[in-house]
This record gives sequence, C-alpha cells and structure tokens, in this order.
Amino acid sequence: MAVPEAAVYKNHGLVMRQNNIRFTGQTAVILLKKLMCGSDYDQVEEACNILIEDLGINFFPVNCFEVAWLLGIEIKKYSEIPPEDREKVVSITEDGYSVKIGDRFFIYYNDLMPQNRIKFTIWHEIAHIQLGHLDSDCTKSDDLMEEEANHFAAYIMAPIAFLIMYNLNNPIAIADTCEISIDLACNVYEHYCKAVMFPNVRRRIMNNRITQLLVYSKEGVA
Ligand SMILES: [Zn+2]
Repeated sequence: MAVPEAAVYKNHGLVMRQNNIRFTGQTAVILLKKLMCGSDYDQVEEACNILIEDLGINFFPVNCFEVAWLLGIEIKKYSEIPPEDREKVVSITEDGYSVKIGDRFFIYYNDLMPQNRIKFTIWHEIAHIQLGHLDSDCTKSDDLMEEEANHFAAYIMAPIAFLIMYNLNNPIAIADTCEISIDLACNVYEHYCKAVMFPNVRRRIMNNRITQLLVYSKEGVA
C-alpha cells in the first residue's frame, strides 16, 4: 500500500500529495479512500500491463476469452453444470466464479447474462486469478479482492488513458468503442470526467504505459 506524503484536511476540503502530485476536492477524497482501504491501484494496473505485455497483445479491445485461453484457464458455462446443482450455484453467485484445483484454474460464468456483462465477469475472474486472490497464502479481505478485481476489469475494458486519447467523451461512445455495457460506460465516464478536470491527474494517467502497449484495432476512430 502506498503511503501519501501528506494528507491534510483544510477548511475548503482535503488536499493530498502523492508522488509530488497535488490532489484536491473529490479526487483527493477518492485517492485517500483508495489508499486507506489498502488497495494499490497502480499495482493492479501494472499487473494488467504486464499481462498484456507477456501475452504479446497489441490491440484494443482485448478479448477476455482469448486471454483466458492463453493463460490456460478453462472456461465453463453455467449451462454445463448439471441442472440439479445449477440453481444452487446461481443463488450463490449470479454472474460467475473461479476456482483453483491443483495448479489448474477454472472460470464458471452464467451464459444467460448479456454478452457485455459476461465479458466483465470473465475479466473480473481473470483478475482474481492473476492477482493471486485464489492462492492459499492470500490474506486480503473479500472487499479488497472484489475492489481490485473490479478495477482490473474496468481498466482493461476501458482504460481512462484510451478515452482521453480517442476523445471518447460520452458514455455511448465509450460503450460502442470499448464494447462494454452502458452501465460500465457510465461508471467509467465519471472517472474520465474527474481525470480530465485536473491536469496533473490527466498527465499521470497519460503516462501509464498502456498507451504504448495497445492500439485501437478498428479504423474510423480519430
Ligand atoms: Zn469477485
């Protein structure tokens, strides 16, 4: 967990400095929250960058099924689960889950869900596997693991740096280009708005090396 160089409450709100960058207002609150809950989002993003690099992936959007296949993760549909067990599985986890058996990883997903929601689920479960959440020595809390997996999935599906680079400045453009649900696009758009509001935050995001690792795979985007 990164420790902020200074976190000071002032009359007009919170001011924080991290890596010589000054954060104020809502951005500072979000940053502080992320730091205080023990999650290191830079590490999650870098784990994702390393994965893209290691697998030699060059194009965006990245196909989660291809990544799972390259990682040797077996993907199973809920419809493959015997009917007598399926109802119980759905009642425990509606979207999907992952398990480690020996050295092998399996992801089960609900194939009755919309395609874009399935993609988020697969990325979320790949994140759990890649971030070591299924390892027996993982000591992170469930909340932290969920937060990290969600951040990993949103980051690979719609990196803020890409939204800025390709001028995807509304949820519809984000959903269309990144091939994600409108719900996720709205959520990512909120982060985009905060990022472009502060030049320092924008600069930090644009310095993320994901901008050098991936290019958009389709023509017609400026
Ligand atoms: Zn999860």
